[in-house]
Amino acid sequence: MSPRIALATGNPHKAGELGAMWGGVTVETAPEGFDPDETGTTLLQNALIKAEALRGEVADDVVVVADDSGLAVHALDGRPGVYSARYAGPDATFDDNNALLLRELGGADDRRAAFVCVLVALFADGSRAVGCGVLPGAIVREQRGARGFGYDPVFVPHGDTRTMAEMSPDEKNAISHRGRAARGLARVLALPGAGV
Ligand code: IMP
Repeated sequence: MSPRIALATGNPHKAGELGAMWGGVTVETAPEGFDPDETGTTLLQNALIKAEALRGEVADDVVVVADDSGLAVHALDGRPGVYSARYAGPDATFDDNNALLLRELGGADDRRAAFVCVLVALFADGSRAVGCGVLPGAIVREQRGARGFGYDPVFVPHGDTRTMAEMSPDEKNAISHRGRAARGLARVLALPGAGV
């Protein structure tokens, strides 16, 4: 039997997506208003902050899972990285962030980048398991596509010509950093969906 799992997010869409990647297990969300300060300087630190904040709120038989992800751009020394959501400022929209990224990169030839996701499971006894997923690719010169979110319209995965915003959700999940991290963690937790 699958363990009870709660994801340290208030976003039911994220929890549903993770449950689907794990072969249809139910992933609960955090209680309403859950929004710990993400003060870490690494993706792992922020994931642990969220996991620890939720750990105290749920029963011992629930496995708490938390994720943090971002975009690392080679020519920008890995920025925006852990600050991806706030790259263009504390209230930045996805459009603001994408516009700033294209401006900062300008006409640079080196457009290598990678989406990175860290997913941690935190058990009641304090033990942890970590899954990490990386999706290498490149930043385009002009935004394309209307699907997805965040930096999807400016990112083309390695081996493809479409931006992530031009892919169907299934195509994106099959290759995404989140999917890769989820499959890695599924193996550790012996969940379904632990393939590739
Ligand atoms: P989060 O930790 O999953 O909330 O991601 C933080 C930020 O990274 C988001 O606000 C986006 O800007 C960016 N990001 C993370 N995952 C993706 C993705 O799959 N596509 C595009 N942008 C993403």
